[in-house]
Amino acid sequence: MGEDGRTAGTGTPPASGARHDPAVVGEGTGPLGEPLAKLVGAPTGRALGKLGLEVAEDLLRHYPRRYDHRAELSPLGRLRPGEDASVIARVAAAHQRPMRSRPGFILSVTITDGVNRLELTFFAKRAHALTYHREQLRPGVTAIFYGKVQDRYGTRQLLQPEFETLPDLDAEAAAVERIDAPIPVYPSAAGVRSRVIRECAGVVLDQLRPEDVPDPLPAAYRAAHRLPGLYETFRLLHRPHSDREWQRAQHRLRHEEAFVLQTALAQRRAVTRAQVAVARPPSPGGIREALLDRLPFTLTAGQREIGAVLAEEIAQPVPMMRLLQGEVGSGKTVVALLAMLQVVDAGGQAALLAPTEVLAQQHHRSITALLGPLAEAGLLGGAEHATRVALLTGSQGATARRQALAAAASGEAGIVIGTHALLGEQVQLADLGLVVVDEQHRFGVEQRDALRGKAATTPHLLVMTATPIPRTVAMTSFGDLETSTLRELPVGRPGVSTTVVPAWNERWMQRVWERVREEVDAGGRAYVVCPRLTPGEQDAPGVDDGVGPGVTDLLDLVDATRPPVAAVPDVAAHLGELPALSGVAVGQMHGQLPPDAKDAAMAAFAAGATPVLVTTTVIEVGVDVPDATVMVILDADRFGLSQLHQLRGRVGRGTRPGVCLAVSHAPPGSEAGRRLEAFATTPDGFVLAETDLRLRREGDVLGAAQSGRSSSLRLLRVLTDSTIIDEARAAARDLIARDPELTTEPALAAAVARRVDEDAAAYLERS
Ligand code: ADP
Ligand code: MG
Repeated sequence: MGEDGRTAGTGTPPASGARHDPAVVGEGTGPLGEPLAKLVGAPTGRALGKLGLEVAEDLLRHYPRRYDHRAELSPLGRLRPGEDASVIARVAAAHQRPMRSRPGFILSVTITDGVNRLELTFFAKRAHALTYHREQLRPGVTAIFYGKVQDRYGTRQLLQPEFETLPDLDAEAAAVERIDAPIPVYPSAAGVRSRVIRECAGVVLDQLRPEDVPDPLPAAYRAAHRLPGLYETFRLLHRPHSDREWQRAQHRLRHEEAFVLQTALAQRRAVTRAQVAVARPPSPGGIREALLDRLPFTLTAGQREIGAVLAEEIAQPVPMMRLLQGEVGSGKTVVALLAMLQVVDAGGQAALLAPTEVLAQQHHRSITALLGPLAEAGLLGGAEHATRVALLTGSQGATARRQALAAAASGEAGIVIGTHALLGEQVQLADLGLVVVDEQHRFGVEQRDALRGKAATTPHLLVMTATPIPRTVAMTSFGDLETSTLRELPVGRPGVSTTVVPAWNERWMQRVWERVREEVDAGGRAYVVCPRLTPGEQDAPGVDDGVGPGVTDLLDLVDATRPPVAAVPDVAAHLGELPALSGVAVGQMHGQLPPDAKDAAMAAFAAGATPVLVTTTVIEVGVDVPDATVMVILDADRFGLSQLHQLRGRVGRGTRPGVCLAVSHAPPGSEAGRRLEAFATTPDGFVLAETDLRLRREGDVLGAAQSGRSSSLRLLRVLTDSTIIDEARAAARDLIARDPELTTEPALAAAVARRVDEDAAAYLERS
């Protein structure tokens, strides 16, 4: 095998200087970049163009969707109607005539094995469409025919069979052998038939040599895992002799997808690690210690442990890149706050990026409250060592914004909290030392980078997510980050009991509202979550992690009989009329409210002025109202598991146990019914995340976990291919450690570059 991997299977050493320039591979030049029109002819090339296939590689990367099998060869005399048949026979006669009843032509061909006869029938609207068949199937010609056996008008026949002429005995022997070969079936559209694609793939393969197909997988990796080279892979994929062959090809392509992705991630990680960060060791007697002294609770063991890891990493001159996953309510915020204060103590600033205004405001409120006098630097009553916390959101008033911008730019604010408004160009930070991204799945890598770009030296990075991410997904989506997991909830957390309530059962529904009443009377608060603001309208984008508009709209179509989807104003009005809730003030909350109104609605709810809050999923992520004890989720069957778990996590955060009532229209045993069953019986978010992955399409999960990564994972399955992901990741990190620029692997470098471009493009499309 040639060391550069492009000579696999031939033993021919590459001509010197034959190495492909990495900038060129896959970009439209080189044999793989040959236009299809040139390889398969202009008309067919145009047809393939409609499928988005322009050059040789596009076609070879147009993977078969499945593989069919030919029927075994049968003697002409033993065909049964309804079965698929393959027969070898000689053409005895052929006759073409116009159709009687409608426009069109029929070509009847009689074939024989010398004893028995069989009719073949081909139809076409225009006579010339049958020319090919007529010319190929002249009397005396032997061919192999594949088709379905039918009895029509008393005659046994094959209708529109596929065929292949066999000029001599060798061809016949080859055809007999090929009958076992699986037939690739392609995702076809735009009127291009699978058979055309199959034949073109063959034509293209015939015009390539192995050395024309640069292989992104390093030769050593291929050898270690016994994977075929890329040229051979294309052959196995498009012209397999057996099922084992295409399976082998797919296996290799899974490795390739994993390897390219992991290399991209490893490279990213290496680039960051090569950067210098400002080391910010903890300073004794600083604000961090002062906060530890005044915390109203003791940290859990997990919080202490992870806190120590962060403290250690921030003290290094290498940028920290860490993902903190933690069960809902596990107390990630305080862990992050301690890290931020370490940076502030060391003279730097920390930015906290939140996905929604509600969450940014809440963080601002709760962090200011936790800090107390420690957040009142320069104010009367402020502590001796203190800082300021600034809030920057897209829609705040001009004055507030100017003040926040000034505090951030001067460094007066040690902590700057905000939404994506923080990414804006006018936002300047005096000395950004740490970026904390809360609820990462709402942010793309690019946004992360935009914020980090505001620092003179690379800041430390902490990404937090409450959506538990299965290990393999984490490796795929967040492969450039180290991971810490906070599994434990603070002691004394009373937990949440979950019940699924069938929406059609009026007595149960009545009980739901009585239960809400009881909690309110006992000093609790109740969320009532609706999937939408108004029927037919989506709430603000980005507040929905699985029930995207596509799925929901589809549900509407499929299920026109179900009652209209609960909408915020309607539900609020309905609750106001219920005897069970008479005298209870009901608030409303959704993404389209002006920011002030949102903040006011949350404050009124938290304070108990409106103890019932009808809301969309804007409250899904991270909202913290300790007195909230009931979570009623209407149309719960429309939500994804992780979203349900997030919602449930909003209650049972104080001293009293939480109650989650999931109101569902889903019949028991339906897919949604099973999802809800799992939700009700599994309190552990990590277990649920695994279940979720099994119940949902993986693309959704990856898409929700992080933008833009799923598009190029076509064969790799994050749940079942964890071994491949593990192996690829280890090898990719190894390779990048040895050769960070990939100078020894130009084809891999090109594949990585392309995938990074695709990710960026996919990201731009979505934003
Ligand atoms: P999440 O991890 O979901 O972001 P938060 O950080 O919002 O959770 O914490 C949830 C609540 O738990 C907050 O009110 C917080 O003050 C409180 N909390 C955090 N750590 C502890 C602890 N060790 N003991 C008791 N309460 C805690
Ligand atoms: Mg949180």
